[in-house]
Amino acid sequence: MPMRHLLIVEDDRALGDGVRLALQHPDLEAVLCRSLAEARTALESRTFDLLILDVGLPDGSGLDLLRQIRQTSALPVILLTANDMETDIVAGLESGADDYITKPFSLAVLRARVNTQLRRSETVSPPAEHLELGPFLFDFGRMDFRKNGAPIELSKTEQKLLRLLVENRGRTLTRSVLVDRIWTDGAEYVDENALSVTVKRLRGKLEDSPSKPQYLKTVYGLGYTWTVSGPSEKLVL
Ligand code: CA
Repeated sequence: MPMRHLLIVEDDRALGDGVRLALQHPDLEAVLCRSLAEARTALESRTFDLLILDVGLPDGSGLDLLRQIRQTSALPVILLTANDMETDIVAGLESGADDYITKPFSLAVLRARVNTQLRRSETVSPPAEHLELGPFLFDFGRMDFRKNGAPIELSKTEQKLLRLLVENRGRTLTRSVLVDRIWTDGAEYVDENALSVTVKRLRGKLEDSPSKPQYLKTVYGLGYTWTVSGPSEKLVL
């Protein structure tokens, strides 16, 4: 099983620590935040596989963060709500929560719910080995990349960047997330320019007009996105 990354947002110190302890597992890395502000910073700086989100937080409602997340992401979210707050539960599910647990809860139940969500996310987002997107055919397994049938040579780094973008197409990936995910091979220092250079090279190989990209677009001040293509898109596994 690959390493899974979990974000816990809970301002009750004892409960937050208890949850983290209960979920301890060699394949699970948990980050604990105590406020919405801390959670936003964590979410901007990296990617997670699951979010456990308290509703009542010192700087606002977890539901606001949930709605914000749902604008761009299908990240699985389990809400922690107070026992008597039925309205919170309804609002939570309407806001896009995948599950909820009412306090007080048993840690065994929490573990079971977390495992269910992680299993589900594994099957919902399988790795895209072979993708047909508009004029493109990207086969990451065979390292075969084509535009209108013509083969394109891509470096390892360009392949990594392309794969992250197309697997998350329609979503914005921040520069820090991309740098983090592409240059993970123990490089202590990554030139900030490396990402811009790789984007430029990839555009040169894929775009009709690299200075006016149609596919690999810049989201100013944030990062990059691969625009979602039309109905011809086909995912073959
Ligand atoms: Ca709370």
